[in-house]
Amino acid sequence: MAKILCVLYPDPVTGYPPVYARDSIPTITHYPDGQTVPSPSAIDFTPGELLGCVSGELGLRKYLEAAGHELIVTSDKDGPDSEFEKHLPDAEVVISQPFWPAYLSAERIAKAPKLKLALTAGIGSDHVDLDAAIKAGITVAEVTFCNSLSVAEHAVMQILALVRNYLPSHQWVVDGGWNIADCVERSYDLEGFDVGVIAAGRIGLAVLRRLKPFDVNLHYFDTRRLPEEVEKELNLTYHPSVESLVSSVDVVDIHCPLHPKTYHMFDANLINSMRRGSYIVNTARAEITVQEDIVDALRSGQLAGYAGDVWYPQPPAPDHPWRTMPHEAMTPHISGTSLSAQARYAAGTREILENHFAGTPIRDEYLIVEGGALAGTGAKSYTADGKASPGADAGNK
Ligand code: NDP
Repeated sequence: MAKILCVLYPDPVTGYPPVYARDSIPTITHYPDGQTVPSPSAIDFTPGELLGCVSGELGLRKYLEAAGHELIVTSDKDGPDSEFEKHLPDAEVVISQPFWPAYLSAERIAKAPKLKLALTAGIGSDHVDLDAAIKAGITVAEVTFCNSLSVAEHAVMQILALVRNYLPSHQWVVDGGWNIADCVERSYDLEGFDVGVIAAGRIGLAVLRRLKPFDVNLHYFDTRRLPEEVEKELNLTYHPSVESLVSSVDVVDIHCPLHPKTYHMFDANLINSMRRGSYIVNTARAEITVQEDIVDALRSGQLAGYAGDVWYPQPPAPDHPWRTMPHEAMTPHISGTSLSAQARYAAGTREILENHFAGTPIRDEYLIVEGGALAGTGAKSYTADGKASPGADAGNK
């Protein structure tokens, strides 16, 4: 019998289950690269249900308890007195989501001698100290591709929201106004803009594809160049460096993983090399930017807008400067946890657990760390050079 410690975000303040806006979600069988969606032996939920919060339990309780395992679900994740730390010493599996990350620092991994699997119900395992996981022989896995298109849609929405000045205009309506000039004094068409994507991976390429019909000039930077036919199809301009890209565009959209090479990449120096009045949308990880430098650039007008859904730490304090900085269109970390995405990552979590308990191989594309080394997708996306996951320490505080 194993203890599975699952950290999920709190239930809606209006109670669980919610009244759903729709009765079903579309059935998707494959992702654009041909990879199949998760395929566990069964699921005990109806796709479209709210599964990512505490009462949703990722739809796992029936399956795990029937197999004789103990499932602990909590949202109390930070600090030494948290429920998370109380159960950590006995846990064989920790499940966490990037939206409400249970930070697995080296210090916490040292308190978890039985831990064999750190499972991210979503994508992005930088809340786990990967070096410490490698040393401790812990497998780290995530549900690759489960919410990539969900994030791409959110990024496109936030680009449009910023450039067209949507949220301040909506606020005039809510406040009873009809202040056309106040709404449009910062409103532009996206058409004709230079839009640059950093990292044309699963999400970044999906954003490029979605932006093509807007008649913008598309640019990208990635450590690996896309195939020539894709560059031609989307009429992409490739830049050999981030510096070259950011000085050539009006909108920068960030989709690279957080690792030592991208940590604090967007500092005052890089931001000041951008065109005045540029926009940044960042749904990758907050620590890719220096948060005070973003605030300063918005105040000075160097940046015309900043949006995204990733913060540091998560949840951010009520006085986090990004809550009150000007010209922002932030959301909480929600882009990858739409009800549509939840159905996929809950199924993927179950698939990985079924493999773990049966001793059968976890899909290579889901692996980040295995057998004391970066593996699968992790070997492509992360680096293990002493600080593979600069964000993993927040939960110690
Ligand atoms: P992919 O692995 O498909 O793509 C990442 C791309 O980034 C790869 O092409 C990789 O190139 C490239 N890359 C790596 N390092 C750099 C660098 N220094 N500069 C430029 N490009 C780089 O990942 P996804 O598209 O699926 O996800 C990207 C990130 O988005 C995740 O790491 C995660 O942090 C975040 N995310 C956010 C979510 C949210 O809810 N907001 C949900 C899901 C993901 P190469 O292959 O050569 O390494």
